[in-house]
Amino acid sequence: KALCAAGIIVGLLAFFWRDTFNPDSISGARVLLTGASTGIGEQMAYHYSRFGAEIVLTARRGTLLQKVMEKCLQLGAKKVFYIQADMSSPQAPEEVVHFALQKLGGLDHLVLNHIGGTPFRMWDGDVEHTRWLMQVNFLSYVALASAALPILAESKGSLIVVSSLTGKISTPFTTSYSATKFALDGFFSSLRHELAMQKQDVCITLCILGLIDTEMALEKTRDKVYMSAYPVAEAALTIIKGGATRAREVFYPWWLELLCCLRDWFPDQRDVVIQSFYNYTSV
Ligand code: NDP
Repeated sequence: KALCAAGIIVGLLAFFWRDTFNPDSISGARVLLTGASTGIGEQMAYHYSRFGAEIVLTARRGTLLQKVMEKCLQLGAKKVFYIQADMSSPQAPEEVVHFALQKLGGLDHLVLNHIGGTPFRMWDGDVEHTRWLMQVNFLSYVALASAALPILAESKGSLIVVSSLTGKISTPFTTSYSATKFALDGFFSSLRHELAMQKQDVCITLCILGLIDTEMALEKTRDKVYMSAYPVAEAALTIIKGGATRAREVFYPWWLELLCCLRDWFPDQRDVVIQSFYNYTSV
């Protein structure tokens, strides 16, 4: 009964929150978007374009970024630029923010979305991979945010951090990835408090996503996960709306928020739900 009531409350909150989104707030907004060559990042680039934003795209592969940029212009983006950058390089974050500032003259939204490739399998003791993944998935986010914060403070902008259910609740086959996503929650939730203390009007939106039907995710989870994959375009739009409405956290699909409520109060039930999503006979 308690869970049912919580579900209704979360559903109502989600309904009212959706209603507050105003597409005009993104028209002309200056956006720096990472991980923009494929998947959720690519779809976010298209949504921002339809809303008439000015965008800087970044990822490693220039040929893909060029194609995304062309489609963005067709869809209505006011300006689009791209810069190739590998976020495993400690210099890349500052170079990318500098490029965006040069091209757009300021920033309203910084969307941190990229991730480094990581195997979806049992922990095999590869500490070096974890170190590298921390650099790509976590430290580069910290460095990008640090370089952009003074600019976002000027515009009273939004810092949007794309995370995962595995950044709130641990799941199998994601040891290092999960660690990087938990680290994001720790860092950015603490930073949110400090910005409030300093009366800086920069909002931080942490986005908690379930399984999304990107090529990468479907390929990795095949035969291992029973969760249904949710549509990438809707996931992308939910993230954008969350940032635009200055939400503290966004859950997609919405019921992940309920699962996160189970996390600490009902650990046995939480583990039963998690185990029901995974093929425990595939190992
Ligand atoms: P994709 O693999 O489709 O996209 C990853 C993006 O990151 C690509 O644009 C890729 O481009 C870029 N990238 C990879 N390595 C680097 C690097 N070293 N430096 C810079 N850019 C890099 O992933 P998704 O779209 O599925 O994921 C996007 C976000 O959503 C991630 O934060 C992920 O954790 C989160 N998420 C996704 C879920 C899903 O089911 N899909 C579930 C939960 C969360 P390039 O290779 O050209 O560099």
